[in-house]
Amino acid sequence: MKKLIRQARRLAKRYRISDGDDFRLKSVDPGDMAGFDSDDKEAGQEKLAEGIELLTRLQDKLYAQDRWAVLLIFQAMDAAGKDGAIKHVMSGVNPQGCEVHAFKSPTSEDLDHDYLWRCMKRLPERGRIGIFNRSHYEETLVVRVHPAILAKQKLPERLVTDDIWKERYQDIRTFERYLTRNGVVVRKFFLHVSKKEQRRRFLERLENPEKNWKFSGADLAERGFWDDYMEAYEEMVRRTATPEAPWYVVPADNKWFTRLVVAAAVIDALDGLDLHYPKVTAEQERALQAARRDLRGGAARPKRGARRA
Ligand code: ATP
Ligand code: MG
Repeated sequence: MKKLIRQARRLAKRYRISDGDDFRLKSVDPGDMAGFDSDDKEAGQEKLAEGIELLTRLQDKLYAQDRWAVLLIFQAMDAAGKDGAIKHVMSGVNPQGCEVHAFKSPTSEDLDHDYLWRCMKRLPERGRIGIFNRSHYEETLVVRVHPAILAKQKLPERLVTDDIWKERYQDIRTFERYLTRNGVVVRKFFLHVSKKEQRRRFLERLENPEKNWKFSGADLAERGFWDDYMEAYEEMVRRTATPEAPWYVVPADNKWFTRLVVAAAVIDALDGLDLHYPKVTAEQERALQAARRDLRGGAARPKRGARRA
C-alpha cells in the first residue's frame, strides 16, 4: 500500500500547479501519458482498480473521523471526460460519504444572489467528499468568453469595470483559502483535451446511437470559441493555482490515463490528512467491554429445557 501511495504521489505531482505565475497551457500535452504508452491501457486500468480500493479505505476513515471535508472541482471543455472520471474514480466510495453536484446555467434565483451563493450551498459536510462538476470557475470561463452572460448578471453597473476578472480571481482565491482554513481540502482538476480528440468524440456521439443523447448543438457552438476558452483556462490556472488549492492540469486525450491521474491526486490529498479511526476513551472502552460481556453471556446460555422459538 505504501508503494501505491508513493506512485500516486509521484504521478499527481507531475500535473500539479501550486503556483500559477509561470504556467503556460502549451506546456501540457493533452496526449501525455507520463511514459506509459497506449499498449499500457490494461496495466493502467489494473493500477486504477488498486487505487480505487485504496481510496475506499481512506474515505472510510475520512467519514469515521468526521473532521476534514474534501472538495473536488472538475472543469473542462465538453467531451473531455469529466463525467467518466467522476464515475470511475468514485466507484468504490460509499455513496453516503459523497455528494456530486453539476452546475448548469444559473437559475433566476441564482442570479438574484452573488455568484458564490449557489456553490456555498453545495459545500461538503465534514467527513464527506463533495464533487463539483463545473463550479464557480465558470464565472471566469463561459462568462468571460461570452460578455452577454455577464450583462445578464444584474450586477450594479459601477461594479463592472475592467478589473472584474482580476477581482473574481482574487475573490475565488480568498474563498478557497477560507475553506482550507476551515478544514475543507480543495483540489481542482482541469481535464485538458485536444481540439482534435474533442472532434473525434463528438463524431462518435453522432455516429453511435447509444451516445446520441450526449450530443448537443450547443457543445458544437462552444467549440467555435476554442481559442478564447484556452486563453481563459490558462489565465484561470495562472491566477488561482495556490499551494492550498492547487490545480491539476490533466492530459485528457486518453480516458484511462486521465482517471489514473485524478485517482492519484485524490489519494495523495487524502493520504496527506493523517486520517485515522476515532480512538476510544478509557470510559468508552469499559462500556464496550460491558456490552461484549452482556452479549456473550446472553447468547451463550439458553435456559435448559427452554423451547426454541
Ligand atoms: P453533460 O453535457 O455531460 O451533461 P455539462 O456539464 O456539459 O454536462 P450541460 O447541461 O451540457 O452540462 O451544460 C451546462 C452549461 O451550463 C455549460 O454550458 C456551462 O458553461 C453552463 N454554466 C455553468 N455555470 C455557469 C455560469 N455560472 N454562468 C453561465 N453558464 C454556466
Ligand atoms: Mg454539455
